[in-house]
Parts: sequence; structure tokens; C-alpha cells
Amino acid sequence: MSQATAMFALKAHYLFPVDAPAVADGILTVSGDRIVAVGENTSGRSPIDLGNVAILPGLINAHTHLEFSDLSAPIGRSRMPFTDWIAAVVGHRRDRESASADIAQERASAVEQGLTESLYCGSTTLAEIATSGWPEQAFRSSSIDTTVFLELIGLSADGIEPLIGQSRTHIATSANAGWHAGISPHAPYTVNPLLLQRAAQVSSEARVPVAMHLAESREELELLRAGTGPFVKLLERLDAWHPSAISRGTKPLDYLQILSASHRALIVHGNYLDRSEIEFLGARSEQMSVVFCPRTHAYFGHEEYPLAEMLSAGVNVALGTDSRASNPDLNVLEEMRYLYRHYGAVSASDILRLGTANGAKSLGLGSEIGGLAAGRRADLTVVQLPDTASDDPHELLLGDSGPVVRTYCRGQSYAAESSGRSEPSG
Ligand SMILES: [Zn+2]
Repeated sequence: MSQATAMFALKAHYLFPVDAPAVADGILTVSGDRIVAVGENTSGRSPIDLGNVAILPGLINAHTHLEFSDLSAPIGRSRMPFTDWIAAVVGHRRDRESASADIAQERASAVEQGLTESLYCGSTTLAEIATSGWPEQAFRSSSIDTTVFLELIGLSADGIEPLIGQSRTHIATSANAGWHAGISPHAPYTVNPLLLQRAAQVSSEARVPVAMHLAESREELELLRAGTGPFVKLLERLDAWHPSAISRGTKPLDYLQILSASHRALIVHGNYLDRSEIEFLGARSEQMSVVFCPRTHAYFGHEEYPLAEMLSAGVNVALGTDSRASNPDLNVLEEMRYLYRHYGAVSASDILRLGTANGAKSLGLGSEIGGLAAGRRADLTVVQLPDTASDDPHELLLGDSGPVVRTYCRGQSYAAESSGRSEPSG
């Protein structure tokens, strides 16, 4: 990772500061890895005119699994039962492991592919769920700022302490490693509640975030409530079912309560959270966030997502793409455009906030990234705007399909056509 040192100013048709209204014919100045001025050129040189583009804060993908980034299409078929999809993903992993001569190398190259794709579609920050054998070097050498959440799976009470030990090692390894540590107890159907408690404790002690898939499907709610349904069949088939692990009458709220003891929690999906659960999260928005993955949600044909309800209850909702096993790409801008087309009750400025400021807040980076303001990190996403005229800048950005043409990570510029090499900034 090379360091940008020069001071330079950028000019764009629109700036989207996020915390303030869009600015037409806007200018911002960057020095080293920081934004030093918005609205004026303090560089002492002519600004670089990027043309008919929008400059946004670098996009934040708050949920992904990059090990699937080499898939050309999602696994399974749209609207398939969720438990069948999980079984297909497990099958895909096994097939790949048995067919590959060098699975570690193959996985590393899938992750590198995902990091490259993410950079070119404007993501400067990622929250990645990593399974054992994940390629540390790929994150160390990427310009993208990634929090790597180590996935913990264990419904049996016996395996808890070894997993907690792995979590501690993971956290210790992250010191000065160029990535940040998080831990991810996978989901209620794979995690013993006692493991979750211990993970929340480690999170609190080490001040690292926790991410957990929760309230993702109706089948999961049935498993918690009654200990029956398709998850039991799936877990039995995988020889992973422990009938006493989950008490009957359990609800996602019980998991939220455990997670509220953590330093910081990302609730992934939350498709079927009820009113009391939404209010619980709304009252803890500095510490707990929901990560909504719109096109993955659509892929499974879930019931309507309570996005407007969550936002009006004060929930901090961030955006994720999830992986290419359930989504066609890793493009957060396309998630926002999908919301713009399909979630009319949510304002365009709120949609922009989900993929920027709210993502930053979910990771505890709200004062560092997620907005265009002096003092913030110079993480920027540059989007081509259409030639059509509109007096609504959000319509130009989200109502169109113009690509991300350039991404800045800490002031260093990456353009799609330059094959991943950073180029001179000023
Ligand atoms: Zn996921």
C-alpha cells in the first residue's frame, strides 16, 4: 500500500457529503490520507476536474463472505427454501475442497477477486465473515479497510472453550496487521447460546465487534420457538443437531439481549424481527446495528423488509451485499439503487446514509469515515452521472446505472481501467 502524500483538490458535478445536502459543482481538498476542506480548494494548485460525476464518501459493505467471490452466479435458485440453500452451500464447499489440488490457494484467489471487485465498485470498508483457513495476506495487502469477523460454529456445549481460544488468537493476530478483528457467532441454528455469551464477553473485554446472522428466516423462528421444522432435519443430516442446545420458546430478542453485552454488535439480516426487537435495537443504536442485504433478501423471496419501520424506530441500519452465493455482485451502489426503486417509503438521502454513515457507525468508525467533511479519511467513491438534466441530484445518482469510475482509499486513487494499480493522485 503506497502512501498518498501530495495535496490535491477534486471537482465534481455533485458532492454528496451525506451529513449535509448535495453540493453542485463541488470541490474538496485532500492532503495525504485526509479530507482537509469541503467546498474550497486549499491545495494551491488547479483542481482535478473529474467531470460529470458524483463524489460520495467511500461505500461501506457491512456484510460479505468473500470466499464465494469467484462464483459467476448465486448458488441454487431464486426463492428456494432457505435450509435447502444452506445445504447447497455446504455441498459446494465440500465439492470444492475435494476437487481442488490447493484449496488454500483457491480460496485466497477468490478472496482477492472479491477485494478487487469491491474496490472497483467503490467499497473502501468491508465487514467480512471469515472461516478457518482464511487468507490473512489478502487483507493485509489490500487498500480496503476490512474488519475480519472470525466465524464461530458450535451448537454443542463441548466445543465452546476451543472456539473462544481461537477468537482470542484471532484478535491478538490483528494487532498492526492492516485489518481489524471481529468475531462472528454464525447464527442461532449453529451457535450454542452459551458460546454466544462467551463471545459477547470476549468482544466486550477486547473491544471488538460481533456479527451474527439473526432472524433471517421463518424456519429459524420455528426452530427457536418449538425446536421443530426444516432446520432440525438439516442439522440432523449434517450430524450437527443438539436437541438440548436451544430452550423451547426462545426468540431473537433473547439473542439480542445476550449480544447487548458485547462491545458492539452487527445483527445481520434481521428479516423477521418483531416490534419489540426493533425497539430494543432502536434504543441501542450507538452499540447495535442491523445489516440489511437487499438483493439477497429479494433472492430468497422473503416477506417485505421492515426498513421504514426500523429507521423510524431509530435503528442504525447499514447495508451489505452478502456473498456472491446469494447475490450477483458485491456492489453496494447497486444495493442502494435497488432500494431506491423498490422501497419508496424511504427517502433517497436515507438510502445514501445506509451505505455510508450508518455503515461507519455500525463498525464504530462514525467519526473517521462515512461522510465528506474536513478531518475525515479521504475514502471516496466517484460515480459517473447521466447526461440527462434533473434538479434532483439523488435521482441522477440512484435513478441511473452509471458505474463507479474511481475509488480513493486514504487519498490514493484507483480507477477501474488501471487494473488495480494505484495511480498518481494529483
Ligand atoms: Zn452472511
